[in-house]
Amino acid sequence: MLPWYVERLRGVRKFLLDHPEFSDRQRLRGAIAIPTADPEELRLATTALKEGRPLPPPPRATAPPAKHPISMLRFARHPGVIEFVERSAGGVCECCKNPAPFRREDGSPYLEVHHVNMLAAGGYDDIKNAVALCPNCHRAFHHASDATRVQMLRRLRSNVPRLG
Ligand SMILES: [Zn+2]
Ligand SMILES: [Zn+2]
Repeated sequence: MLPWYVERLRGVRKFLLDHPEFSDRQRLRGAIAIPTADPEELRLATTALKEGRPLPPPPRATAPPAKHPISMLRFARHPGVIEFVERSAGGVCECCKNPAPFRREDGSPYLEVHHVNMLAAGGYDDIKNAVALCPNCHRAFHHASDATRVQMLRRLRSNVPRLG
């Protein structure tokens, strides 16, 4: 019986089809060792490795990694939204209220503009949907557990009245 994430690992699925002679366990161990340029696949393979007891020996690189072309779509962003949101924040993260961790070359405090309803989910590039965050809070909004993100969103909404 293979774990849930195998279905979502394209490299693993291909490996399983290519190597029917190995046991499920052997095939899984082999498959999660395949380098991938797909960030989601990489994350899932890392998740698979977390379940390994003991931790398998790390792979040793004998050449620079292969390169894969990617194609991606970028959203057109309005500079006026970024400037408004950054200036409203006044150099302080609108979520945790800590000061920006450093300044840019031009002296401006480094914060990142995040869309509460994410653009990829159909959100608007509008000041009512955008906040200035420190890099830690920004990463957390994209990668933390649901429970943490719900808490942070509550904090954000009480800190930033323009979100409505
Ligand atoms: Zn923060
Ligand atoms: Zn974001």
